[in-house]
Amino acid sequence: KRVIVWFRRDLRLADNPALTAALGGGFDSIVPVFIHAPDELGDWAPGGAQRVWLHFSLEALAAQLDSLGSRLIVRTGPTQETLDELIEESGASAVYWNRLYDPLTIARDKKIKKHLDDSGMETASFQSHLLYEPWTVETKQGKPYKVFTPFWKSVRDRTISAPLAAPNTMPQVWSRIGSRSLASLDLLPRIDWDKEIREAWTPGEDGAHDRLEQFLDDAIENYDNDRDRPARHGTSYLSPHLHCGEIGPRQIMHRLEEWLDEHSGKALQDHAASFRSEIGWREFAHHVLYHFPDTPEKPLDERFEAFPWSGDDEGLKRWQRGQTGIPMVDAGMRELWATGYMHNRLRMTVASFLTKNLRVAWQHGERWFWDTLVDADLANNTLGWQWATGCGADAAPFFRIFNPARQGERFDADGEYVRRWVPELAKLENRHIHEPWKAPAKALKAASIRLGTDYPEPIVDLKASRREALEAFDRIKKSD
Ligand code: FAD
Repeated sequence: KRVIVWFRRDLRLADNPALTAALGGGFDSIVPVFIHAPDELGDWAPGGAQRVWLHFSLEALAAQLDSLGSRLIVRTGPTQETLDELIEESGASAVYWNRLYDPLTIARDKKIKKHLDDSGMETASFQSHLLYEPWTVETKQGKPYKVFTPFWKSVRDRTISAPLAAPNTMPQVWSRIGSRSLASLDLLPRIDWDKEIREAWTPGEDGAHDRLEQFLDDAIENYDNDRDRPARHGTSYLSPHLHCGEIGPRQIMHRLEEWLDEHSGKALQDHAASFRSEIGWREFAHHVLYHFPDTPEKPLDERFEAFPWSGDDEGLKRWQRGQTGIPMVDAGMRELWATGYMHNRLRMTVASFLTKNLRVAWQHGERWFWDTLVDADLANNTLGWQWATGCGADAAPFFRIFNPARQGERFDADGEYVRRWVPELAKLENRHIHEPWKAPAKALKAASIRLGTDYPEPIVDLKASRREALEAFDRIKKSD
């Protein structure tokens, strides 16, 4: 009896229920396969930064399987035909996998399941990517939640079962079952723009657990304060690992409880509760995407379909390149370009700036993030953009427009973050660093900055563009 374990975004061996079921199912051979089929994800195939991540994550998984006596079989799509071929080659009678929740994957998986069931195969899918599957959570009226707090209250006390252990050994895979090389998937860029991404991260299951331990050792005790300070490493940096399933949310929650048992203190409990609720936002984002599958393209608040976006291509380009002349915005956009990551405070700030001050449609920003973030995730990215625009589930109200200079003064008071990413401004005094256009000529000269030459003049006036955004919003409010 043989079984195929179809790996997708669950690139780990521990707490992988499909793998555990295969190991405990009385099979004498297990064929672990990853099928690269980006076309099946339509417009939401992995972007540039995600592809780099995926390459190294697969490399790490392959090495782990090798060390247990198994082998990762890598194939390319179409998925259904590829599974059929593998079934033929291996004589497998069962296919197991873990579930995902984005609309195109759900549709494809349903089709494949039916096809396999019809051809007499045993199929089984498992929960591993989320703590609470979207269809298990509903309001008293039997509807999906659209507001985070009641969503989180309704689920957060549910018992989470213990994570499953990783196997110590695995059955061999027949040598005649061929695999493509990872290089042949062409996931890495031809020009070397990904150097800093490679330096900043360690994709793979071990890298994910190291990040979690580092977070518990160094950052959780001050999470609630430091998580808003982009110059500090105050958050977990687990998002790309979670996206690829190198660690699961259940493992994170369990390890957190274990760690808290060893470290006491009321303050610590509060920091841990904040961190748990961020994991809760991830659950909520998946809940919303599952129940409102159009949201990656369409605002949940339909009034925004009529919003008068400016179509400002030049503004969009300067935003993408970190050349808007607004230091916090440019710092965030440059961090993103260099490392494939941007701090959450900056994600909110740059998204508000793009959609409100520049009035560029949120879908353009969402798309840029999709291509440049190592953690680009359809559920979290969609929710984040609609939240920041004010057009989504439990969104910030449209009129709450982030002022990037004030954000800088509050969360980067000594300008450390801006100086790191916008070195042109490095010598400017703290009191001018977030608004160089207001600095007196003397201060600019002392810092060797010629505004408009060394660093751009601001692309928009923050006050005037804020007012115009509010007027534009008034127009759609009235047409409601
Ligand atoms: P931590 O603070 O350590 O949080 C732990 C985990 O909780 C994260 O890894 C993440 O899985 C989850 N989480 C935290 N905040 C959120 C949130 N607001 N929504 C959903 N889940 C959250 N996150 C992504 O994973 N992928 C994206 O593509 C993405 N795009 C975003 C776009 C915008 C415009 C905004 C405002 C936010 C976006 N986020 C996205 C959410 C958030 O910024 C990142 O999850 C977070 O910065 C990741 O860093 P961390 O792992 O150190 O976070």
